[in-house]
Amino acid sequence: MSKKSKSFIMPTYGERDLLFSKGKGSYLYTPSGKKYLDFAGGIAVNSLGHCHPKLVNVLKKQSEILWHTSNLYKNNNQELFAKELCKKTFADKVFFTNSGAEAIECGLKVVKSYWNLKNKRKKNIITFKGAFHGRTFAALSAQKNKKYSEGFTPLLTGFRNIPFNDEVALIKNINKETAAILIEPIQGEGGIKPASLKFLQYLRKVCDKNNILLFLDEVQSGFGRSGKLYSYEWAKIQPDILATAKGIGSGFPLGACLATNEASKGMVQGRHGSTYGGNPLAVSVGREVLSIISDKKFLKNVDTVSRYFWQKLKKLEHYYEEIVEIRGAGLLLGIKTKKNNVMISNLLRKNKLLSVPAGDNVIRLAPPLIINKKHVDEAIKILNETFEKLI
Ligand SMILES: *Cc1c(COP(=O)(O)O)cnc(C)c1O
Repeated sequence: MSKKSKSFIMPTYGERDLLFSKGKGSYLYTPSGKKYLDFAGGIAVNSLGHCHPKLVNVLKKQSEILWHTSNLYKNNNQELFAKELCKKTFADKVFFTNSGAEAIECGLKVVKSYWNLKNKRKKNIITFKGAFHGRTFAALSAQKNKKYSEGFTPLLTGFRNIPFNDEVALIKNINKETAAILIEPIQGEGGIKPASLKFLQYLRKVCDKNNILLFLDEVQSGFGRSGKLYSYEWAKIQPDILATAKGIGSGFPLGACLATNEASKGMVQGRHGSTYGGNPLAVSVGREVLSIISDKKFLKNVDTVSRYFWQKLKKLEHYYEEIVEIRGAGLLLGIKTKKNNVMISNLLRKNKLLSVPAGDNVIRLAPPLIINKKHVDEAIKILNETFEKLI
């Protein structure tokens, strides 16, 4: 097809010319059979790679039984999935959504409804520079990033955007009206920047002391990506609210907002809803993904392979002038480059390695969590070939 063929899709995504017709494990294939190593992972979504046989099986089975009934009726699989999520996390209650932004929206409603019951003066939410929480109006309002919100004013009020990983700025901006702190434990779109474990622990302490809800956005960092089911476990803290999506469905649209009993007190009948959220197809896949990923051996393997990847990337950092820094955690890794990251990401793609540009001139690598050392070696080889030609 010619590049200039007229598309009937709104041009929000720009020009797209690469077409994939098949995916298997950690690889994508074009119609003519060209094979790409997928370290973009559908933007940190394909946690179990492409067409994982166990997921294909549950989806096939469920598709022959029941697709959709709406949330007017009881859904046993939804109940079981919520119970399993709560058992494996800090949470006592779950609301299912179809996407990350919807999980954020729900979490913000949890905050608002809680303080509406308890203390109407608490109406400000602290967020961080470089954050990304999605494309809805509340998410745009929360992250205060002109790149996404230009031309979409007026936004919602009540968000205070402060420097990331900065204890002094945090204390300066906390007061009696602070309702919640919303943070990504590892900033994804903003440039693969982890919050320090010390900062996360400090946030928990500040929240406890000042009666503030801690709301984590683990849409990108969660579901095994860090080597733990959720990355907050590394800091040995627990949030009050958490948004999860991306990896939870390994490609099936699904998200969830998790909360404690206390934090979700305001979410009573009629306060929120979704036509599709947690539908039978989605939760059948989600349950299978959770059962595979939450296995200790699986997570241990993610940790091992990610440390191996990290060391290999650090070697590249030392070798190539062009690389400013390697950053990230687990299998959410970033290469900050001197030359334009989009240009380099395109070169990698030409060499059959898929990556995703992120903010702060970073090339993001978010491979399926099922990769092994051989996949890492293959990626490193392509990175070497690409960076060698840059000099
Ligand atoms: C992708 C992302 C979102 C938004 O998720 P959508 O499914 O695109 O709505 C929110 N928060 C973070 C941290 C993300 O990476």
